[in-house]
Amino acid sequence: MKIHEYQSRQILSNHGIPVPQAEVVRTPDEAAAAFGKFGVGMCVVKAQVYAGGRGKAGFVKLVKSAEEARAAATFMLSNRMVSVQTGAEGVPVSVLLVAPGVDIAREYYVGITLDRAGGRAVLIASAEGGVEIEEVARHSPEKVLKTPLHPLLGLLPFQAREVAYKLGFTDKLAGEAAKLMLNLSKAFIATDASLAEINPLVITTDGKLQAIDAKFNFDDNALFRHADIAAMIDDSQEKPLDVRARKAGLNYIALDGTIGCLVNGAGLAMATMDIIKLHGAEPANFLDVGGSVSAEGAVEAFRIILADPKVKGVLVNVFGGIARCDLIAEALVKAGREVGFKVPVVVRLEGTNSKEARVILSAAQAELKTLQTAADLTDAAKKVVAAVA
Ligand code: GDP
Ligand code: MN
Repeated sequence: MKIHEYQSRQILSNHGIPVPQAEVVRTPDEAAAAFGKFGVGMCVVKAQVYAGGRGKAGFVKLVKSAEEARAAATFMLSNRMVSVQTGAEGVPVSVLLVAPGVDIAREYYVGITLDRAGGRAVLIASAEGGVEIEEVARHSPEKVLKTPLHPLLGLLPFQAREVAYKLGFTDKLAGEAAKLMLNLSKAFIATDASLAEINPLVITTDGKLQAIDAKFNFDDNALFRHADIAAMIDDSQEKPLDVRARKAGLNYIALDGTIGCLVNGAGLAMATMDIIKLHGAEPANFLDVGGSVSAEGAVEAFRIILADPKVKGVLVNVFGGIARCDLIAEALVKAGREVGFKVPVVVRLEGTNSKEARVILSAAQAELKTLQTAADLTDAAKKVVAAVA
C-alpha cells in the first residue's frame, strides 16, 4: 500500500527526522493563504499523488508570492499528473502540500527497501540525490551504497556512522545524518514498510539536514496491525478495478494480456497463467478468489474481469475444496445475467460439488451463448486461446 508525501512526512517527523513544516491544501485560495501564513519569501507547492517524478512533470513548483502559489495550485488541481512513473493516463490531483522553500546546498538519497534476492532489508544511500536512484545506479553504480539491515535490530549505529562518512558528511552533520538513518530504520520496522525513502535529503545553505520529500510503501499483509496506516489510503489514486478487488477481499493484479483468469488459490493461479502462456496467449490478470470466497465475492470477481476492456476471453479454473464448485458456477451465471458475456468464457471445475456445478452451467448455456465447459485444464487453455485467436 502507498500513502501520500504529507502522510509520509508525518511518519518521519514522528520518528524524530527533521522535516520542514507544511500545510495540506485542497484549493487555490487555500494555497495562497498558506503562502501568506508562512510569511517567507519562497514556498514550494507540491501535488500529492501516488507517483514520483513530480518535479520534472511541473507538479513541484517554487513560488515567490501568494499569487504564484494560487496559479501553481490552479494548474495542478486542474490537470492529471503524467510523469515517467505514471503511464500516459496519469494520476488525478486533489490534494497539495505547501511548504516554506528551503535553500539547498546539496541533495542526497537515503532509502530502505527490501532486497528480495538477499531476503532482508537494505539501506540504500547516495550523495547523488534528488534524481531517480535507478538512474544513478545505472550510470554510476559505485555512487550507490548498500548496507544490509539486521533482521531483528535494523540498522546498527556503526553502520549508520560508516554510511554518513562515506556520503561525505563530517563533524556534527555526520552524527546527525547517522542518527537520521537509524531513525529511518526504526520507522521502516515499526510500520512494516516495504519502502521508506527520503529523496532528496538536503543540507540547507545554513547547514541543516532536512527531509524535503518522503515516500513510504507498506506490506499489505501487515496492514491488519496498522489500522492507522490502512485508514490513510486514497482510493482516487488507485485504478478503479484494483479498489473494487481490494474491497471484495480478492487478490487481483492486472496484467497486459487478453485472457482474464478466475482461479481459487495462488498456486493454481500461477499454474493457470503458465498454461495460458504455454498455449500461446497472455493472461490479462491474476485473480485468486481464495478458499473461502462468498457468493457475492465471486460475482464481484467476475464483474471485475468482465469490466476490463483488455479481456478478450475468460478462463475459469476452480479446484473446489472449501470453495464449492456449485457456488462458483452460480456466481458465474449471476454475473453473466447481470453484465452479459461479450467474450468467450471457458470453465474448468473439479472437486467439491463439481457435478452440481455442471448441471448449473449446462442449464445456463442456452442463455449465456459464449459459455463453454472443458474436460480438464489443458482442454480449457486450448479452448480459450483458440477462442481469442
Ligand atoms: P519528486 O520529483 O516527485 O521526487 O519531488 P521532490 O519533492 O523530490 O522535488 C523535486 C525537486 O524539487 C527536488 O529534488 C528539489 O531539487 C526541488 N525542490 C523541492 N522542494 C524544494 C525547496 O523547498 N527548495 C528548493 N530550492 N528546491 C526544492
Ligand atoms: Mn523526490
